[in-house]
Amino acid sequence: MEWTDEAITRLRGLWDEGHSTAEIGRRLGVSKNAVVGKAHRLSLSARPSPIRRDGSERRGLRPPAPRRVIGPTLPPLAGLAAPVALPRPVEAPPSMPVMAVRPPPVAAKPPRPGLRALPCCWPIGEPGTPSFRFCDAEALPGKPYCGEHAQLAYVRVRDRREDAA
Ligand SMILES: [Zn+2]
Repeated sequence: MEWTDEAITRLRGLWDEGHSTAEIGRRLGVSKNAVVGKAHRLSLSARPSPIRRDGSERRGLRPPAPRRVIGPTLPPLAGLAAPVALPRPVEAPPSMPVMAVRPPPVAAKPPRPGLRALPCCWPIGEPGTPSFRFCDAEALPGKPYCGEHAQLAYVRVRDRREDAA
């Protein structure tokens, strides 16, 4: 194929008009591939042609970038995730002690000076009543009770044993 100046001019014109390479080739009496090759050598800009079925995508053409979603990708959750009103636990009266089981004092780790010792676990009052509480005085090192209650505990156990006997 001889590309005359006239042919090139016609190619440019048809190219600018947005004709398909096959159509340009048909009008110029050349093959589609010849049009593609010549257009490439002429550095004709890629047309925004909707006709892309000839599969002549040239290298360097960037594939269409995936559409970027700007902003929130999820619909606002208002209404969907309204703050669930959790039932507030009934506040215990201040005199109500925490009924959690106290961990046994670690005997191997004597309390350092200046550090508050573990509170005494001696129960005071009727268990299950609001007045029930623990002694909370400083327990003896390595013991769950304060000095006074440790003694009482010992006596009570002994008394019980005597009662049972
Ligand atoms: Zn005590």
